[in-house]
Amino acid sequence: MSDTVLWLLGEPPVQVDPSTPVVRADDLGLLRGESVFETLRVAGGQARFVDAHLSRLVRSARRLAIDLPRGWEQLVADAVSSYGLDDGVLRLVCTKGGVGFALLTPVPAETLRGRVEGLTAATLTLGVPAGLRAQAPWLLGGVKSTSYAVNMASLRTVDADEVIWLSSDGEVLEAPTSTVCWVSGGHLVTPPADEVGVLAGTTMQVALSVCPVPYDVRRGTAEELRAAEEVLLLSSVRGVAPVVELDGRRLGRGPVGQALSAAFETALLDG
Ligand code: PLP
Repeated sequence: MSDTVLWLLGEPPVQVDPSTPVVRADDLGLLRGESVFETLRVAGGQARFVDAHLSRLVRSARRLAIDLPRGWEQLVADAVSSYGLDDGVLRLVCTKGGVGFALLTPVPAETLRGRVEGLTAATLTLGVPAGLRAQAPWLLGGVKSTSYAVNMASLRTVDADEVIWLSSDGEVLEAPTSTVCWVSGGHLVTPPADEVGVLAGTTMQVALSVCPVPYDVRRGTAEELRAAEEVLLLSSVRGVAPVVELDGRRLGRGPVGQALSAAFETALLDG
């Protein structure tokens, strides 16, 4: 029983010491960033929404021409059952060189703080028109690859906890590690992943199924976002987090976000 657990994909999966080196220096996953990954929440001692995450792992691998090995369900089951805590972060990674592993770690206090206290956010351009990434498969919009250096650089650029990316034509896209939604005229609004080439979030998918207000999956502008009654960032480990300040404007925590967060946390434990 440990609070960091590492298992290697295989038939059967094998637990190794968390300090074990697992990737070769010539793996293109390392040399070119050609790896795919998923991040799942472990809650109540179980990995949540495993099927949705594994389906997306398969889709991401196809887009990177990674020949995904089998055995992920067993890997998840074995890794989670060896984990010492009820709540955690489960990362599944597969490199182009064919190395698959599961890494389990505790939920960082910072992540919990964002869920409870909210986040400050700033908008930043991604520099491409909203419709482009969906039409340009080589830009890998909507693919969960480990080539996230741009995502991390975006976060370092702003004086805020989070970034919300805008297209060059002023539409709302996504955040570097979360899906964006906002409340406008009492409706929850989130951009359509397939039209604007963003990652189809598993948290958003579940949240929409328990949404306490009507919702619209449609495109929206930066002006609409900045005038929104509430802005929320959704991701697996953090869940539903309110944006309490956007581009310097105070928003605070609103009733829709609080109700959605409560409904999502219930669905998570049922799911
Ligand atoms: N968008 C991006 C770019 C992400 O990296 C993530 C998750 O890390 C999300 C959205 C949210 O996805 P999920 O809700 O499946 O965690």
